[in-house]
Amino acid sequence: MGNKGFRVEHRYLELPDSFYTRVQPTPLKDAKMACFNHKLAREMGFHVTNEADWAKIGGGTELLEGMDPVAMKYTGHQFGMYNPELGDGRGLLLWETIGPDGRRWDWHLKGAGTTPYSRFGDGRAVLRSTIREYLCSEAMHGLGIPTTRALFMVSARDPVRRESIETAAALVRVAQSHIRFGHFEFAAHHEGPETVKTLLEHVISLHFPHLIQLAEEERHGRWFEEVVERTARLIADWQAVGFCHGVMNSDNMSIIGDTFDYGPFAFLDDFDAGYISNHTDQGGRYAYNRQPQVGFANCQYLANALLPAMDEDTIRKGLQRYETAYNGRFLQNMRDKLGLVQEDEGDLGLVMDTFSMLNEHRTDYTAFFRALSNLYDHGHAPLRDLFVDRQVADEWLARYEQRLKKETRARDEREYEMRRVNPKYILRNYLAQKVILEAQNGDFEPMKELLKVLEKPFDEQPDFEKYAELPPDWGKHLNISCSS
Ligand code: AMP
Ligand code: MG
Repeated sequence: MGNKGFRVEHRYLELPDSFYTRVQPTPLKDAKMACFNHKLAREMGFHVTNEADWAKIGGGTELLEGMDPVAMKYTGHQFGMYNPELGDGRGLLLWETIGPDGRRWDWHLKGAGTTPYSRFGDGRAVLRSTIREYLCSEAMHGLGIPTTRALFMVSARDPVRRESIETAAALVRVAQSHIRFGHFEFAAHHEGPETVKTLLEHVISLHFPHLIQLAEEERHGRWFEEVVERTARLIADWQAVGFCHGVMNSDNMSIIGDTFDYGPFAFLDDFDAGYISNHTDQGGRYAYNRQPQVGFANCQYLANALLPAMDEDTIRKGLQRYETAYNGRFLQNMRDKLGLVQEDEGDLGLVMDTFSMLNEHRTDYTAFFRALSNLYDHGHAPLRDLFVDRQVADEWLARYEQRLKKETRARDEREYEMRRVNPKYILRNYLAQKVILEAQNGDFEPMKELLKVLEKPFDEQPDFEKYAELPPDWGKHLNISCSS
């Protein structure tokens, strides 16, 4: 298949070879293209006419000329316990390409078979979880939140044993970087200070080029601050949109602040502050309202890993950035959602009381803010109808209207802006579940339609109203397990 004219680099392979093992994909049986992201391909600088050709890459039977697949080695803290055995257990970095706009792209084939880091795993990914990752990465992108992306996925006939027998699939995931906090933990705890420095300079030169010219101490300090801030802002964005990651282990934390590794994630339907999306997380370590703290704890793991290579005070200063960056971004996000431009010292109180109300009354999070963005056009009724006790809504609305008196924008103008931050469409678990069932019967069209809707979550899209519906009873409490 040649190299198809890609501008290729293998910068990851310039790292010490303890960071990877060369592994060829283990072919899947009869892999078929399930979904290809043509728009993303265009951004990356290529165009695909024959999807079947690309299915061969997804199925591990062919590689493009210049692909040199490796499994990455990293470690990390899983549910608070250090695990030295981690690494890409079922994914391979195929190559890195540079797009027409100069952006770099790691190509990672997830579900490619076993590697030296597979431990007890089979190296495979099932159709269900591959679809979920595909959908959610594109949904996140549609919401404007940093994330890895889905380039394409294939579906195959190979049986894969999870709680029941499922079938295999594979995803080509792309991102500016696949380096995780856990890469640094591996370097620090198993390789030594020089390796930490090498990795750090690698990350800076590829992803933080504006820092390259600074003197070493400042370069490292500023870099760590930026990583901490990006992480904090990412989580503030998750909280604002009601996203639960589910498995915030430090090996699932991207060094560039992308949402990374979609497993048992969920977007909240009825608001529940303590929501646990991963049903194997019995203690609720990664519950929705714990995510901001966990983000910080992960930055602390990273900080520990940097200690051998950086000055302790500099690291401490970097860590201190987390709280300010998180609080600032979170409050800004919530003011935007409420349509508040004038700053008022009571705003944080209003935000917290709003969360308490939504929590107490288990109000649909997305529908609440969307209804609030349409008071001018649709009146109070759609918002009141989200509450069993309408009086609760009335009292809250009265307080909100009072607060709006401090605003100067015209009502329609404010609500127009609010509709650009309060999505009408989100990837509710029941929507994902429906398209998964169709795909398991061989029909990927419903998945593609859902993807199209999620690409523009803030638009009205009158033909697709049904995707904005609240979950039916069966869809409210789906058990999403870690198995994928
Ligand atoms: P995750 O919880 O998906 O982030 O995975 C945690 C670790 O387990 C990573 O090192 C994965 O590569 C590995 N892993 C997950 N599933 C499998 C599998 N089916 N086969 C081999 N390794 C896996
Ligand atoms: Mg992972």
